[in-house]
Amino acid sequence: DVTMQLTGLTKTYLKGTPGEVQVLRGVDLTLHAGEAVALVAPSGAGKSTLLHIAGLLDTPDEGSVEIAGQNVTGKGDRTRTALRRQDVGFVYQFHHLLPEFTAVENITLPQLANGVSEKAAQERAMALLDHVGVAPRADHRPAALSGGEQQRVAFCRALANNPRVLLADEPTGNLDPETADQVFDALMALVRDEGLSALIATHNMDLAARMDRKLQLDGGALRPVE
Ligand code: ADP
Ligand code: ADP
Repeated sequence: DVTMQLTGLTKTYLKGTPGEVQVLRGVDLTLHAGEAVALVAPSGAGKSTLLHIAGLLDTPDEGSVEIAGQNVTGKGDRTRTALRRQDVGFVYQFHHLLPEFTAVENITLPQLANGVSEKAAQERAMALLDHVGVAPRADHRPAALSGGEQQRVAFCRALANNPRVLLADEPTGNLDPETADQVFDALMALVRDEGLSALIATHNMDLAARMDRKLQLDGGALRPVE
């Protein structure tokens, strides 16, 4: 059950100039439903570039991105935006929640934008918050939540529209180690129960060890970490 297939991705910035950087040199990756894959890479290795291409925020020079068997490469911006909103969830090191909206509203809004009814969106939002143990804080704005709670809400928002793939860039990097551990458990429980694939960039080798596979981005290609 393949959710995402990346094939032969290449990306060069500033091509033909003295500043040219060949960041991706042939990235291949197959993600299966229900698996979490750690992406380990030193800063500057091209992690963000890879996550942005996989998340349809950027296009590769060569190669293809397939989501749920559909080849996305070469599709127009509108189609890619629609696919991104439906099939991909993003989580970052900082939560990026909307400050003027409550936790539950932050999870409801992306669903309303996707045409889900208010009632169904609310129910889904509350079920997700309950899953990560933040339901009692549903009506608080982000500023009134702890860092760990904010990040749990950000996970719920990323999963609001039932994406096939979750892309995360240091999702617990802003938390103290104990909170990071708990928040990571919540994230993994969501990934397993929702049956989606997760590609999670992290420098934390303890967290990486708890995922199903570890891949290293090195020299512009992915290879397993021993
Ligand atoms: P990481 O996320 O692993 O730190 P990035 O994907 O952000 O790596 O960047 C990889 C390399 O590409 C770095 O050398 C960076 O300076 C360069 N780079 C990233 N984005 C651009 C851009 N828009 N223009 C030129 N160079 C870029
Ligand atoms: P909207 O315009 O409705 O906010 P977009 O289609 O622009 O939605 O974005 C969809 C998803 O992609 C959102 O989760 C958003 O956080 C993320 N996103 C959009 N632009 C960027 C970007 N430049 N870098 C990282 N993530 C982005």
